[in-house]
Amino acid sequence: MTRKDKTPMISPDEARALVLEQSFLMDTETVPLYEAVHRFLAQDIVSDVDIPPFDNSAMDGYAVVSSAIRNASKEKPISLPVSGESKAGDEATVVSLQSAVRIMTGAVLPRGADAVVPVEDASESGGMVSFYSPIKPEENIRHAGEDICRGMKVLRKGDRITPAVMGMLASLNFTHVPVYQKAKVAIIATGDELVEPGTTLSHGHIRNSNAYSLFGEVLKYGGKPHYLGIAKDSREDTERLLQEATRCDIIITTGGVSMGEYDFVPEVLRKLGVRIVFETVKMKPGKPCIFGILHTQNAKKLFFGLPGNPVSSLLSFIQFVRPALLSLMGARKIRLPEVHAKLKEKITKKKGRTHFVRGFFSIENGTLFVATTGPQGSGILRSMHEANCLIILPAEREVYEAGDEVTIQLFNHEEVE
Ligand code: AMP
Ligand code: MG
Repeated sequence: MTRKDKTPMISPDEARALVLEQSFLMDTETVPLYEAVHRFLAQDIVSDVDIPPFDNSAMDGYAVVSSAIRNASKEKPISLPVSGESKAGDEATVVSLQSAVRIMTGAVLPRGADAVVPVEDASESGGMVSFYSPIKPEENIRHAGEDICRGMKVLRKGDRITPAVMGMLASLNFTHVPVYQKAKVAIIATGDELVEPGTTLSHGHIRNSNAYSLFGEVLKYGGKPHYLGIAKDSREDTERLLQEATRCDIIITTGGVSMGEYDFVPEVLRKLGVRIVFETVKMKPGKPCIFGILHTQNAKKLFFGLPGNPVSSLLSFIQFVRPALLSLMGARKIRLPEVHAKLKEKITKKKGRTHFVRGFFSIENGTLFVATTGPQGSGILRSMHEANCLIILPAEREVYEAGDEVTIQLFNHEEVE
């Protein structure tokens, strides 16, 4: 095939839009709540209960009628008999103007009470409790339904089930949750030079790192990775593994998509009937990047022929496969956050392609700055580890001075030192 038979070069944004246009929704399933973390909800959740279910105390202390201690002061404390105790889990008691009820955090507020005096602001002895200041009505009370009230749409289809959502679902009495199925993602490395970690390396060979980076990415975004191994640089082996991969929803290869003599991926994809949507993207790194679709008897498959260089393959995953994977699994939020930052150093580039420069942002006196991680070769995988963002430099501009404002994409949210 000649160069001009290729699909036209498109921008990364156009490529991402084309991918999302082709993505589809996985079937749904119901899983036990404790297995649901990081999955995506397959339906809106409307509460049929109030949370908390009853008025209760936010403190350990004494439930009172606030007007009963309206005139309390240090000099003239007001003492009331302790008429009872309400601990978490007990049924409701009653309090009158002439009494106080000892109460624990989370216990039902006694009928009649409108405030709770914290234990440290009172002193109890011989069945009496003294108060040294007044208290406003409503102090230290948690009202029924103040978190979630009956009829409220609390969660939306496509929401990620975070630990907080797990807790909310438990409060709402879910033991099982409707979620989208995990997308199965096949990963195939290509290249005669590749050997797996744990085996000896002879001259001219390198270790297969891409399969592992991509395996990690698939897991990170909640997919189910299936690593199928290394395809030798031959049509036959590439076809054998790609054929095997068609049982998955998304199929990823790395390497073998450039213009080299032994780059068989595009040819084999076409032979298998994959319709190529694009195969070059105006970006650096990651220019050769194939996206295609295959309709089998009862399903659609998305194929990504990612470039071989370790940074390029990871970066292309993040830009194109990640959105597809999230979209298949029902995620409502797909875009990575982008913000503006001031460049700390001058960068020059050629016109024509969007650059994704590995960067490190920091906040200094409230201003966001960004520096590059250093050398930007597409084989320098360390740069992806050291970066906490990608500096996106638009295709047409060549020079970026220190102090210029640039867009950064946050792709590595982690704790800071
Ligand atoms: P290719 O596109 O197949 O020519 O690969 C481009 C570059 O990426 C070459 O230097 C390959 O050795 C390297 N490469 C390809 N696949 C992998 C892999 N799985 N792990 C690490 N490097 C790779
Ligand atoms: Mg190769």
